[in-house]
Amino acid sequence: MPTTQPMRAAPRPLWVMTMPEADESVGTVYLVGSGPGDPELMTVKARRLLDEADVVLHDKLPGPKILGEIPEDKREDVGKRAGGEWTPQEYTNRRLVELAEEGKTVVRLKGGDPFVFGRGGEEMEHLAANEIPFEVVPGITSAIAGAGVAGIPVTHRDHVSSVSFVTGHEDPTKEESAIDWEALANTGGTLVVLMGVGKLPLYTQALLDAGMDPETPVALVERATWPNMRVATGTMETIVDVRDDNEIEPPAITVIGEVAATRDAVVEFLGNRTGELADHADNELEPTE
Ligand code: SAH
Repeated sequence: MPTTQPMRAAPRPLWVMTMPEADESVGTVYLVGSGPGDPELMTVKARRLLDEADVVLHDKLPGPKILGEIPEDKREDVGKRAGGEWTPQEYTNRRLVELAEEGKTVVRLKGGDPFVFGRGGEEMEHLAANEIPFEVVPGITSAIAGAGVAGIPVTHRDHVSSVSFVTGHEDPTKEESAIDWEALANTGGTLVVLMGVGKLPLYTQALLDAGMDPETPVALVERATWPNMRVATGTMETIVDVRDDNEIEPPAITVIGEVAATRDAVVEFLGNRTGELADHADNELEPTE
């Protein structure tokens, strides 16, 4: 009788067994974050995939510089249509599947990071449901970088150790609002609001009602890292007037918290274009280019 057991074939790892059969005729969809707008802030991988893609589905958020570098004939705009209407998400989902099934290499290019208020989650689920292979390529989100280039660190050892990313799109007065502004006010951490230009008066009021100090510093960073980026600063009490006086428009982030004031201490030496901006004290803003 042999003293050793005969060698048995190693069991196949589970993931090999559950991987769907690769279908060579189906293309891959890349859900790619473009970063906040400066082409130099795109990842090396995003750059390569843009070069290699047969088709790039995008909206306006990656900004004019990045979009301008993509050849017209491989761009498909699935953002706002003429007339101001958004392309329905269902159309974009369908189009991604359709193109992949034609065997195309598809880049779905999204501003910032694809999974930060970017509907990348929905698209990924739709691709998986349709058995389309995909890859996620993270990008630098405007929620962090937009503050950073304005001289605002979203966390700072001396001020805060938490940060929340919130959509300002919801009406805080609505019963069914999913955002608990009172809880957010009580975190004491930095709040970065995306899509929050229009409803600024509503959520600043909601935060004040929840007991936030009216003197809390606030910054609005418009078109962060675009050539015509602007920054406007104020407090919870003044920021709505600051927005109106300077006609701040989307895309912009609202940074609320002590860290927003760190800009004041550094702006003179800040090389991120914003350094040239007018003194925040009188809220005079000028495009830098
Ligand atoms: N996925 C994106 C966010 C999409 S939601 C990201 O990670 O950055 C759209 C909102 O993002 C805009 O309304 C604005 O609040 C913010 N945003 C995106 N790019 C911006 C930029 N360059 N400057 C300022 N805000 C920006």
